[in-house]
Amino acid sequence: MTEKRASDIKGQPGLLRAALLGLCPRCGSPTLFEASARVALRCSSCGLDLGALERGGRLAGMLTALVAIVLILIAYAVETKLRPPLWLQAAFWAPVTVGVVIYALRLFKTTLLYASFERREGDEP
Ligand SMILES: [Zn+2]
Repeated sequence: MTEKRASDIKGQPGLLRAALLGLCPRCGSPTLFEASARVALRCSSCGLDLGALERGGRLAGMLTALVAIVLILIAYAVETKLRPPLWLQAAFWAPVTVGVVIYALRLFKTTLLYASFERREGDEP
């Protein structure tokens, strides 16, 4: 693994794209997550110590609960307005819930990690 300098990186990706693809804040490689919503300890491409940059572990649980409440309210509104069959509700909401929670966690963790990375890069001379 070779360490790349921050000045080598041009055009950091937007947060939405970085969260979706799991892009490293330094090199832009898709190495940010080792599991669907678990940040890797180190970028396997540039060697950036991602574990040292990760923050907000406790808030991730609150975010998951908040997302669940919003999804429950939407599901309740769909149930009262459209009254779809139960099997259709289950077939729709199970994958949507998993997908939305995972993406919300990825976006949350990517936002905090990128902010931490930019703060740290700003501190270096
Ligand atoms: Zn990297």
